[in-house]
Amino acid sequence: MSEKCLFCRIADGEIPARIVAENEGAVAFLDINPISEGHTLIIPRKHYSDLLEIDSNALQACSLLSVKVARSLVASGIAEGINLFSANREVADQTVFHFHIHVIPRKGEDTIRFREIWKPLKITDQKMDLISRKISENIQE
Ligand code: AMP
Ligand code: ZN
Repeated sequence: MSEKCLFCRIADGEIPARIVAENEGAVAFLDINPISEGHTLIIPRKHYSDLLEIDSNALQACSLLSVKVARSLVASGIAEGINLFSANREVADQTVFHFHIHVIPRKGEDTIRFREIWKPLKITDQKMDLISRKISENIQE
């Protein structure tokens, strides 16, 4: 049998982590290399490598826990706003291959500048129509 992944070991209590909240299907703990104070990771208890693999119950558990953590970060004064981020697959810069959502606290004085890497592409209307059609044709229930 293959080795358990790092986040499975955290979910099972085999590796220490600063757990801040839990529900039946998901666990929230502080990121060990935070990009802002209170940077939290939400993981499903069961192993799914990424968003393309996760089942809807586990995703729901993660989503609900993300909202709870986001509200707590704001209620506690740690954050004034929140970014959610999730890297899925290597090409998207995922480094730990157990699905997770980054809950990133934001404050007016922080140094995070997501919008500096946000460069809109110029795409023709024809191409936009084609992309739109491709996506809608491939939606699966
Ligand atoms: P990603 O690069 O989007 O796959 O996110 C993986 C995240 O896991 C990074 O932000 C790491 O800092 C974080 N991380 C790695 N190991 C641990 C750990 N043992 N405890 C908490 N966070 C971790
Ligand atoms: Zn895992």
